[in-house]
This record gives sequence, C-alpha cells and structure tokens, in this order.
Amino acid sequence: MVLGELGGSISRAIQQMSNATIIDEKVLNECLNEITRALLQSDVQFKLVRDMQTNIKKIVNLDDLAAGHNKRKIIQQAIFNELCKMLDPGKPSFTLKKGKTSVVMFVGLQGSGKTTTCTKYAYYHQKKGWKPALVCADTFRAGAFDQLKQNATKAKIPFYGSYTESDPVKIAVEGVERFKKESCDLIIVDTSGRHKQEAALFEEMRQVSEATKPDLVIFVMDSSIGQAAFDQAQAFKQSVAVGAVIVTKMDGHAKGGGALSAVAATKSPVIFIGTGEHMDEFEVFDVKPFVSRLLG
Ligand code: GDP
Repeated sequence: MVLGELGGSISRAIQQMSNATIIDEKVLNECLNEITRALLQSDVQFKLVRDMQTNIKKIVNLDDLAAGHNKRKIIQQAIFNELCKMLDPGKPSFTLKKGKTSVVMFVGLQGSGKTTTCTKYAYYHQKKGWKPALVCADTFRAGAFDQLKQNATKAKIPFYGSYTESDPVKIAVEGVERFKKESCDLIIVDTSGRHKQEAALFEEMRQVSEATKPDLVIFVMDSSIGQAAFDQAQAFKQSVAVGAVIVTKMDGHAKGGGALSAVAATKSPVIFIGTGEHMDEFEVFDVKPFVSRLLG
C-alpha cells in the first residue's frame, strides 16, 4: 500500500466514524481497527500499531466525543500526534558543524542505496558550502569503488579508495587521515554491504567504526523491505552506534511504514529520504509534513 492509499484508508475510517450518530466504544474500536489494518498493510510493525491503538484509546475521551465536540478533529489530531511521536525518537541526531571535521559512516545492506546516498549526502552539503569528501571502504562488492568514483567525479567531490587493498579498515583510516589533513569538514565513509545480515558484515562494520571513530553512523534502509524493517534496523543498531536513518526509494512503490519501524528500532531520527536515482533526488525528512501526507 503506498502512502496516498494509506492516507485514504485512514481518512475513510475517520469519516465513517464521524458519520455515526452516536460515537460509542464500539464505533471508536471499529475506526481504530480500520486504521490498524491500513498501517499494517503499509508495513508498520504490529507492535507499534498496537501501542498506537492503546495510546489513542487513552487520549480520546468518549465523553468529549459524545458532548458534540468536533469528533473528527479530535480523533484525527490524536492519530496525527501518535504517528508524529512514533517518528520522533525524542532526541535530534548529532549536529555537524561546518568548518569542523566530522566523520560520518554509512551502513546498510547491499542494494539499499548506500553508495548513491553517500554521494547525495555529500552533494547536499557541498551545495550548502561544506567541504565534503568520500571514502570507499567497501572492498566486498566488485565495482563499488568505481561507482563511488564515478558519482564523486560527477559531483566534483574528492574521493579515496583502492583497487588493490582488500582491508576496508586500512582504506577507511587512510582516507579519513588524508581528508583531515586537507581540512575537509565532512568525511563520509561508505562501508560494505551484504545481501543479508551476516556476522562477517557486522564484524567488519564494528572494526571500521572502531578505527575511524565516526561522529555519526547513518543507517540506510530501502523503503520497500516491508515488515523486515524493524529487525534489520535493530540488527545494525546492535552492531554499531547508529545515530540517524536515511530511507531510500521513497519514489515509486515506496511504503511509509518502514520509516516508523526504523526509528523505533534504532531510537534515531530519519534525517533524509531518497526520492530517485539522481544526485539531487534527496529531501530533508520532516516529520509533520510526512505524517500529513500519510493521513491524506
Ligand atoms: P548499495 O549497494 O547499498 O551501495 O546501493 P546502490 O547505491 O548501488 O543503489 C542500488 C540501486 O538503487 C541503484 O540502482 C540506485 O540507483 C538505486 N537507488 C538508490 N537510491 C534510490 C532512490 O532513492 N530511488 C530510486 N528509485 N532508486 C534508488
């Protein structure tokens, strides 16, 4: 179910409820069940949906509804607030400072869009006057360095990598050192992905993180992975100190639910979303407009 459809289902459920002459517990429950179904179909994790349902029931006072207040508004507001709360981990991600060197490490499964997102992130900051640089510590995937090199060259961003060195830790350390000397203020380290969550991947991530001491670790997640989002995000969080999430491929058949799960699993905010293959198809993530769109 895509975002628009989800919003449609939720709006319909609220509309149906507010059409009822008497709003009693049964009517409210029916409405909440309808919303639950819509959220589950959008890949929001079951537990999150259940928690939201419980919270809304606590907030929405049936007596207020019966007293002729604007029922639709009260319920809609409660749902809006709950969804916003689910996307807000309560603390912002690490704030980078222009002119002061920060190391940002990207992690995620192969194919999630990690390498593409590294360049988008660098390009976004470059346009804002930063001096970014890219380090390719992905020695696992053949062609990873070429891809990063090509993207970086296109965006005129300095890069570092090797065709011969197979130790990702060594490359990461050398790259970070070099760009620190060159006074780059945003050093981005792209790490290896794997097709699935594997012990070897997590061990390598830990080693690169240990050696480069990143100020921020960004977990890149493909929005189309569905219900797997929570477990995947949690597995990465357990291996490295994920501090922010970027959700990719929100264009096309993108689902909104994974973002909620990733926030819950990593206790970190979504900071950007990827909306296409091109360098500038990248948007700052903003909770309220996202939820408004979700609600249609
Ligand atoms: P990695 O293996 O995680 O480094 O993934 P890549 O960066 O190589 O991306 C895998 C594929 O996803 C490539 O074909 C990218 O062009 C594509 N991709 C990445 N981000 C997006 C996005 O936001 N939208 C779309 N439609 N495609 C994307």
